[in-house]
Amino acid sequence: MLWVGSKDLVLPAFAVPPPAAPPRAAPPRAAQSAAAQSGALEVVAYDLHGARLIPGLVDGHAHFTGGGGEAGFATRVPPLALDTFLKAGITSAIGVLGTDDLARSTAELLATTRGLADCGFGAWCLSGGYHYPPTTLCGSVRADLAFLDRVLGVGEFALSDHRSSQPTLAELLRLASETHVGAMMSGKAGVLHLHLGDGERGLDLVFQALAESELPPSMFQPTHVNRRSALFEQALELARRGCPIDVTAFPVADGEDALSAEDALEAFLETGLPAHLLSVSSDGGGCLPSFDADGRVESFDVARPAALTACLRTLLQRGHALESVLPFFSTHAATTWRLPGKGAIRAGADADLVLLDADHRSRAVMLGGAWHAAGGCVPEATEFPSALTSKN
Ligand SMILES: [Zn+2]
Repeated sequence: MLWVGSKDLVLPAFAVPPPAAPPRAAPPRAAQSAAAQSGALEVVAYDLHGARLIPGLVDGHAHFTGGGGEAGFATRVPPLALDTFLKAGITSAIGVLGTDDLARSTAELLATTRGLADCGFGAWCLSGGYHYPPTTLCGSVRADLAFLDRVLGVGEFALSDHRSSQPTLAELLRLASETHVGAMMSGKAGVLHLHLGDGERGLDLVFQALAESELPPSMFQPTHVNRRSALFEQALELARRGCPIDVTAFPVADGEDALSAEDALEAFLETGLPAHLLSVSSDGGGCLPSFDADGRVESFDVARPAALTACLRTLLQRGHALESVLPFFSTHAATTWRLPGKGAIRAGADADLVLLDADHRSRAVMLGGAWHAAGGCVPEATEFPSALTSKN
């Protein structure tokens, strides 16, 4: 649910006021409500002077433990610090393993996920990685899903990519069935999150999986589907059959046969498909390599969580209404991954909030009821473990 217009939002008591007043805002003013005057309840009111309050963003694909490593061990991307998410207005995320699901393990990913969750961040993760047989902690993805509370699904499992295991249809179906049954046992979303590469086969294997099994379309979620225009068209067809699809907020060069996440979102809106079937994620901490014809890395960049906020900002600058585009960055991922209390401002939801200024930039982030400064380091007053804050 989104509130449009000027509203009062009542939250339980918090220890810290907003660290930075929004632009054109006066310092927070304390006020006593009628209830307070009667002695029943103490209420502190903050006037945000028209700044917009939105739910914290939900990033459905991030590499908490770092990704990359496609050009040797020196190119492994370091782990993401908590404040790289908070600065980007992201208060929940799903951690995944990618190309390196060998040196990086499910155990390490789960430990990092729990560390983030202990700090109040909405952190969950997936079992497996690019390859087959999948990397697991409990011996199977079914057991990981059944017994590890923070594990919500499986992925990112690579298809149509030279870095994949070149999985067969039978292997994809086996992995999907394990995901489905493990999730049923534990009451989780049980999504098989699929990394799509540049290969011509695109999503062919997923269409075959839908045609030749009883598995529900809603459990297959391809990501990076905006990396080629033909792949995006295939993904729209999958969405028509009920699969959620995810686009990545990566940079797109002039002349490249790819859609930026904002262009993909606009194209999706024109299809009239149910909105909840599309989400945008950052791939933060992941590597963005370019390969030559022999599969060798020519160059690479590192994806950043802030790309998600930048994408939302671009859409708002293009004139889209906040209420029409914001759910693609918040509510939809929370729906796909079954995260009650995340991605929306409503009674009973978690107090994960972002204050947007007139320039559509995040000015302050509330995580689990405590404010954190945006655009700077997490303030010392919040007493975060130093290991979880970046040094720059
Ligand atoms: Zn990927």
